[in-house]
Amino acid sequence: MGLTTTKENESKCIDSNNNLDHEKRIKQQNYDVMLPKNEYRFMKTIRRWERDVVGFETPLRWINIFLISTYHLVYALCVTYCFMHRIHIPLISYVHGLFFGWMAGFGVTGGVHRYWCHRSYKAKLPLQIILLVCYSMAGQNTIYEWVRDHRVHHKYSETSADPHNANRGFFFAHVGWLMMKKHPDVVRKGKVVDMSDIENDPLVRFHTKYFLFFKLAFCYIIPILISHYVFGDSWLMTIYTETVIRVLMSLHYTWSVNSFAHMWGNKPYDKSIMPVENWVVSLFALGEGWHNYHHTFPWDYKAAEFGNHMNATSYIIDIFAKIGWAYDLKKASPSLVHAVASRKGDLSIKRNVK
Ligand SMILES: [Zn+2]
Ligand SMILES: [Zn+2]
Repeated sequence: MGLTTTKENESKCIDSNNNLDHEKRIKQQNYDVMLPKNEYRFMKTIRRWERDVVGFETPLRWINIFLISTYHLVYALCVTYCFMHRIHIPLISYVHGLFFGWMAGFGVTGGVHRYWCHRSYKAKLPLQIILLVCYSMAGQNTIYEWVRDHRVHHKYSETSADPHNANRGFFFAHVGWLMMKKHPDVVRKGKVVDMSDIENDPLVRFHTKYFLFFKLAFCYIIPILISHYVFGDSWLMTIYTETVIRVLMSLHYTWSVNSFAHMWGNKPYDKSIMPVENWVVSLFALGEGWHNYHHTFPWDYKAAEFGNHMNATSYIIDIFAKIGWAYDLKKASPSLVHAVASRKGDLSIKRNVK
């Protein structure tokens, strides 16, 4: 009897070792598929280290790592310099920095997210142009890339096909995914997700064609010139506030939706998914933290059940709706929300935000 048990344990152990080897081989195959073609020879050693020693699932994108790290380093150096030399940032710099930050934020939340990606409302041409300019101020990817990645994120949340799969940890979901090549499943699903509306949108096509111009002009050059010539900031101050603080903070607010709002909070609408309701994220990301609701009803223009509570984006869309530039706003009916929440949600959570 004892001998049989030992043999069974041994065979289980061999099976689990085989499974681990199999998983490792699959990971290594995925990694190899994603290796950039025609790399410099010196990269071979680095790639071996990435794959075999550290065990990364996909190759690192060293240029992005360098750029993102440099941005943070410059930010830290500027803060230290201002602190050491007792340099005070004038109130007016905070005010217009915040205003530009909100414009950029609205371009992301009300523009590329709720309008272009989810089509949760319709917009007349003047509003589309405003959304385009605001989005360009955020300094992010093309609208096409943003929408494709986000549609894949919704469809394959928390799987290997999710570009910022929160199961791979906080850092990966927040910013790490931008520092690595995409998982083969993300690339595969990204190729088949329906993007016909975006491909046929003339304004988006125009933006994609002149993407670099839009990004440089609206994210950097124009805000810098306005800060200097209109608000009288010194060149040093305006470059610091407009290219470092504002851009970096707005990026982190966007990233926090993929990380914090997939990890910490409650789930009143669907407890089987990872996205959560997180009011702190909502505060900073203009209403995008009501993420359990948003993943349950992604077509809802408020991306939240209740009014405009910590939801600056909905508030602004409502203003545009009043003047007729935003219309056909989609909203889940209270009875539908109640029915879904009663069936799938965590009933211990009170949905009482007004
Ligand atoms: Zn999400
Ligand atoms: Zn979404």
